[in-house]
Order: sequence, then C-alpha cells, then structure tokens
Amino acid sequence: MTYTLSGCRVITGDEQCPYYPAANIVIKDGIIKKIGPAEICPAEGEQISLRGKLVAPGLINCHHHLPSVLYRDLGSDLPLMDWLQQAMWPAQAHMTGEDAYCAALLSCAEQIQNGITTTVDQYYYADCNARAVKRSGMRAVIGATVFDHPSPESKDTLQTAVDFIEKYRHDERITPCFGPHAPYTESPRTYRRIAALAAEMGVMVHTHIGETRGEVDCIREKYGTTSTQLLEETGLFENRVIAAHNIYLSPQDIDIFAKHQVGAVFCPVSNLKLASGIPDIAPFIKAGIPTAFGTDGAESNNALDLLQDAKIGLLLQKTMHRDAALMPAEQGLAMLTAEAADIIGMAHCLGRLMPGYQADLVVFDDAFANAVPHHATAAQETAHLLYSLSGKNVQSTMVAGKWLMYERQIRTFDYPAVARQVQQRAARIAADAGLL
Ligand SMILES: [Zn+2]
Repeated sequence: MTYTLSGCRVITGDEQCPYYPAANIVIKDGIIKKIGPAEICPAEGEQISLRGKLVAPGLINCHHHLPSVLYRDLGSDLPLMDWLQQAMWPAQAHMTGEDAYCAALLSCAEQIQNGITTTVDQYYYADCNARAVKRSGMRAVIGATVFDHPSPESKDTLQTAVDFIEKYRHDERITPCFGPHAPYTESPRTYRRIAALAAEMGVMVHTHIGETRGEVDCIREKYGTTSTQLLEETGLFENRVIAAHNIYLSPQDIDIFAKHQVGAVFCPVSNLKLASGIPDIAPFIKAGIPTAFGTDGAESNNALDLLQDAKIGLLLQKTMHRDAALMPAEQGLAMLTAEAADIIGMAHCLGRLMPGYQADLVVFDDAFANAVPHHATAAQETAHLLYSLSGKNVQSTMVAGKWLMYERQIRTFDYPAVARQVQQRAARIAADAGLL
C-alpha cells in the first residue's frame, strides 16, 4: 500500500538535506519511498495532510525497564539504598507475569504518547514484555535480565534468556538480547558465559555500568579494578554492548569503550532523582563513542518524556563545562535518533527519514503555546524540537508506516482499559508489599 504524508515541515536526520519547510513523504509498505518538496516528490496514493506540522524521526529510548511503571511514585525522595530496600525490592517480589504484561503495555502507551517508536529494554519477564510491545506496534530491543540469583520469574535466568532469544530471534519488530544486570551484582563468570553465548548466537548485550560510586568501591574491593576493565577481561565487549549510565568511568575505561565501540547510554533524569551523579557525556563524544539517551525505568524517572530528558542532559553538559556551545541541539537529536539506531545495530534502517528507511516517525502539533513560533532553518527547527517541545506536543506516532497513535488516540490497543488494569495491579502490589 502506498500513501503520502503531505505539506509537513520535516527534520530528516539526513546530513545531505536535514530539513524541508514543506515536504511530501511517500510511504510504501511501511518504508519511506520518497521524501521532498511536492515539485520533485509528487504525492502518491491517499494523501494525509500534515500541513504546517513538524515531523521528525521516531525517538529511540535506549535504556528502559518496561514493567517498572508499576512502581512509579513508590519510595520517592528516599536515598538509593533505602529506596531499593524499602520500596523496590519488596514491590518487585510481588509482581507476576500478567502484571508485567499489563504494565509493559502501559509503558508502551506512555512512550508512544511521547514520540518514542523504539524502546531498548532490560528486565525479567522478557517474554511478557515482548508480547506487550508486539501488541502495541512499537519496535524494541529486549534484554532478558540475567542474575546470579533467581528472579521472580525463573530459577535459572541465563537459560530463560537463551530460550527467550531463540523464540524471538527472527521477529520483525522484537530484537532479543542478553541483559545481565550489572557487574556489582553478577559475577565475572556469568559475564564470561554471556559473552560466549552472545557471540555464538549473534546477539547484543544490554547492561548497567558505572551507575554509582558504591559500584566503583564494590568492584575495586572485590576485584581490584573497574567495572569496565573487569568486563573487558570477560570478553563481553567482543559483542555489541549497550551500556547504561556510565557516570563513574575513568579515562582508561573511556578508551576501552572507544576501542570496542561500546554504546554509551545516558539517563540524566534517573541519575539526578536518585542522586547517583551527573553523567559527563562530552568525553565520550570526543572519543568517538556512539552515545544515546534513555529514560531508565519509570520507578526512577518518573515520566517517560525522552525529549525532556535529552534537554536536561544537554543543559547539564553545558553547565558542567561552562560552555553554552557544547552539546548543541543537533547532537541531542542524533542521540535520540541516528546514533541511538547505530548503538542497536539498526543505523541502516532507523533514525533517519530518507528513502529506504522504515517509516518510524513522530508528528508534533502546534496546539500548545510552547510550539509557537517555529522557524525556517534546520538549526532553528532542531533547537525548537530539543529546547521548546516536549512529549505533550506529540500529536501522532507511526512505526513501519502504521499509526500507533493518531491525533492523540492510541490505535493499537484499548489504552483506557490497560490503564485501569495497571491501577488495580499496582494497588494490589503496594498492599501486598506493605507499602500503603
Ligand atoms: Zn536501568
């Protein structure tokens, strides 16, 4: 099926032609066939007028925990260890697979409402999460969490991860991978086994690295090294690795990231809320390391408004380095789209709006006052997107040529019913965990 989105302002992410003030986007079978002004790119098939609206590549949320919306607002304002011990761990112990599925669907709704088209996850109940993502119409990289200890889902989390990867490895929109939690909770032996299995199965690994000062102390005390150097010794970085947080990395660690092109994902809002520290992104960019943003889970964010998180991440960099020119909006856009696609191995088909790429895109509306005025150049429009707009400005979201949300209505599932279910399930979990 061929149709055309017509008359829109488009930020493309294509270095050759980054912006069109009025363009047609011709979509055939879920792929962008042509894009450009009407004179050189006439409409084909049905026309959907987006006159004057801003269209951008769909955002890629490079670090998330789908079912954690269940724990939103629990234990707010507690220090990290108190938050974990008094709120998160008791609540997580009462979560079932069906809870995870419903919560993952709610998370998909929230991400779609915020213009996110691909989400990169790590959690247990990976199969439930994948089922929810498939129903929502989103795209996802889903890491099945591997622990040294049992999870609420499985006694052998590594075998569960292998089974999950086998089940989804040929799926169109789900890319399965391993999700070892972190080097301070999982042993080098576990990472070594995952490194070998990931190489054998040809899949990615999604893990946390360098999130807290406590991790640095723990790894130095136990192994006399850093998390990054420890993981390099396990052979993990011979695979494509998505590393979340990266706050406490040494210059030598950053060299290791550069050597292996480890994808560095930054979650500034989660880090700020838990007072873990402020990620310094600039040295990673200087070293040529692919970088991206993630929301982290809703339990530590609490929203999934990736555009707002990127703005905060950019502003923190400017202030840390006392340089307003550092980390311009174009860099932020790349971290939300093309570089994020590169980190997950999909730069050839995601993160840009150009012929041959997937029709994954987001439409922003001018209905709110914060969206006015808009401007006429690529640089101004990109700054408008990063600094002025937020998730509330998202009008419609598309994946593979299909509207997941159109004019603020989720089209792929009954969102109000899911929200009601999650409300009931979250209340039950909080009561069972003694958190009321
Ligand atoms: Zn995380």
